[in-house]
Amino acid sequence: MSLIVVGTMAFDAIETPFGKSGQIIGGSATYVAYAASNFVQPINQISVIGYDFPKEELDALQARGVQLDGVEIKQDEKSFFWAGKYHLDMNTRDTLDTQLNVLAGFDPKVPDSYQGSEFLMLGNLMPSIQLSVIRQMKIRPKLIVMDTMNFWMDSAMEDLELVLKEVDVLMVNDSEARQLSGQFSLVKAAKEIMKMGPKFLVIKKGEHGALLFHENEVFFAPALPLEEVFDPTGAGDTFAGGFVGHLAATRDISFNNMKTAIIKGSALASFCVEKFGTTRMKEISAKQIDDRIQQFVDLVNFEIKLA
Ligand code: AMP
Repeated sequence: MSLIVVGTMAFDAIETPFGKSGQIIGGSATYVAYAASNFVQPINQISVIGYDFPKEELDALQARGVQLDGVEIKQDEKSFFWAGKYHLDMNTRDTLDTQLNVLAGFDPKVPDSYQGSEFLMLGNLMPSIQLSVIRQMKIRPKLIVMDTMNFWMDSAMEDLELVLKEVDVLMVNDSEARQLSGQFSLVKAAKEIMKMGPKFLVIKKGEHGALLFHENEVFFAPALPLEEVFDPTGAGDTFAGGFVGHLAATRDISFNNMKTAIIKGSALASFCVEKFGTTRMKEISAKQIDDRIQQFVDLVNFEIKLA
């Protein structure tokens, strides 16, 4: 049941049409850990932070079963910082600023206590760091899931191609799938991307749900139609955390179980967007999660009689 999560632990500054967050806690690994810890603990976290990362935030993660032995603290540097601004549709955003800070010279070390973990979630991060973690694993995990973004396609494509060869599941959004494959049709894009390494591909389409591809099979999960989307930041990472958390808890990596994992990831992501940053992820209960998963079931359940 052991899961390693690699990614950023960061400060974010977010602008939406509804307001500005100021400096808040974010980072791909932060969201993944919050989400996955609803289904599986401990979470073996690998990341890097600076002197400025608040101790209360580390305590809050630890209280949810997040192990921090693999989180390096660089006492003389600042934490990773990202600023973004959402467009009116809340589906698209511009990156206003990315300050790598501690991330620039980060050389992750997989602690001995993490060796033997069966599941590895490579959250959005420099591909070279993702690769280094894979290579340090003495026994290849049962499943390696990877998230990435256009930023790395633009700046580190060669390294990205190397990581892709090593992973089982890739998660990207629709525009990233198109950029990575050079194909507009998502079906063609999926075929091209699966030739690059991953056997499974998840394409996230924001408020329009997500697609799961494997060989010639495809599964579609909707996103819950929400009355208000306050801040979509972290929705992709939360989705990934719910997805891999469910797989790690059940230890079943079949296509069928991945369908359930996608629904669970979508349910968690629907909470994440309701408030700024990680606020909502810290509040939700197991009962609320179950109720929301039921809403997903009700949303798509229908009977049809064919003549
Ligand atoms: P998401 O909205 O799921 O794409 O994730 C947003 C989170 O990713 C924010 O909390 C950022 O701190 C983090 N982030 C933004 N850009 C990067 C990057 N280039 N590498 C790693 N993490 C990033």
